[in-house]
Amino acid sequence: MSQTELVEFLGTYGEPAFRARQIARQLYVNQVDDVMQMSDLPLALRQRLTDDCRIGSLTQVRVVNTDDNLTHKALFMLPTGEQIESVLMIYKDRATVCVSTQAGCAMGCTFCATGRLGLLRNLESHHIVEQVLWARRTLRHLSKTTTPTTPTKHTDDAWWGDDGGHPDALPQHLGNVVFMGMGEPFANYDRWWQAVERLHDPQGINIGARGLTVSTVGLVPGIKRLADAPLPINLAISLHAPNDALRSAMMPVNKRWNVAELIDTTREYVHKTGRRVSFEYVLLQGENDTPELAGELADLVHGMLCHVNLIPWNPVPGMPLGRSERQRVVAFQRVLQTAGVPCTVRVERGVSIAAACGQLAGAAISGP
Ligand code: SF4
Repeated sequence: MSQTELVEFLGTYGEPAFRARQIARQLYVNQVDDVMQMSDLPLALRQRLTDDCRIGSLTQVRVVNTDDNLTHKALFMLPTGEQIESVLMIYKDRATVCVSTQAGCAMGCTFCATGRLGLLRNLESHHIVEQVLWARRTLRHLSKTTTPTTPTKHTDDAWWGDDGGHPDALPQHLGNVVFMGMGEPFANYDRWWQAVERLHDPQGINIGARGLTVSTVGLVPGIKRLADAPLPINLAISLHAPNDALRSAMMPVNKRWNVAELIDTTREYVHKTGRRVSFEYVLLQGENDTPELAGELADLVHGMLCHVNLIPWNPVPGMPLGRSERQRVVAFQRVLQTAGVPCTVRVERGVSIAAACGQLAGAAISGP
């Protein structure tokens, strides 16, 4: 519940508004997970709340970790039985959680494990917030109980590039939330936005707007809404192909809003907000990774305040696709750089536990 909802709820008990503020502080700042631990509340109220309420509604099914204990993937079950996943990633200078906004996804991108599930349901805002609370609790626990290990040297040439670094000391604070897990956030806009406001609330979880990043497959109405939204959160757009023929084959959404409409809307967004956008471009061997396509991409985004993230595809069992080889990625990146388009290659965390981009599918597909 937001503070306003807590005030209303406590009002039904005849309790004053300051009790709601106390409870919000216990839930979102102190992060207690048992009402009886809220020692600033009268015992009778705590007992009544214990009888009537429960903190959280997700059941944690399991958590697995990899990358020297710096990447943690949680599988949760909703009260209605569907499963979702969240991934906590600890880097040299920050900690980030990637959260789901839907169970499954209706968008059907051909390279994505979640897309195979179809849409199972929209998440409520509290399901989204709760994933962030899990990440904060996990980070807090890790920072108290573990010391960073020496980074594993990856000898496999397939895993190279910038993975965000290895910390000397674990960060205490979860500063970043990316809405890039299962689902398309703009297809569940209102509930997702409620979660954004709840996460940003300075009296509560207090994550800065610049620490919040939403990723969309290119739902043009959502981009327009975000341009008028009151919080300056970051926008990432999954582009993955620079022309309609290729993009429609990879991403059915392109038949509804094509590349030209998406890019025009993005340019308007940048003009209106003054904020830089990121384009995500997953690289599939022999599909969308030629220097010619890199040139098309450079022309498409020319002059825009943007950054391109190149993401060598993360394997999904049973998908007949290949991850671009290193020299193809380098050649692609070089074309963009020569054209003056800022770009980086993102090597993903969590690949071995199916926690990286495009690999999340609950227990249905994604393995450990
Ligand atoms: S890539 Fe994103 S939008 Fe596309 S199917 Fe997967 S979860 Fe949905």
